[in-house]
Amino acid sequence: MYTNLCKHCHKQFKSRFKAYSCNECRSKDEDYFDEIEAYLKEYPNSNALQISDALGITAYQVLNYLKEGRLNISRGRFERIGDE
Ligand SMILES: [Zn+2]
Repeated sequence: MYTNLCKHCHKQFKSRFKAYSCNECRSKDEDYFDEIEAYLKEYPNSNALQISDALGITAYQVLNYLKEGRLNISRGRFERIGDE
């Protein structure tokens, strides 16, 4: 069992696999992720800031998907931005 901290609501939860969001927030996560994927399909060379502007999420969140290995860096050009 892993003890995880949800990145959305910062609730502590346990799961069998390492996870970044709790069950309640997971669907939120999937929604954002789908939107990012769709956006990148349309505008391939976007950076994190452009994505966050277009979708109304923070660039920090976009970079988190990258860190989690859910976004492929070769599919879009991402810029490292300063820590918030
Ligand atoms: Zn949560």
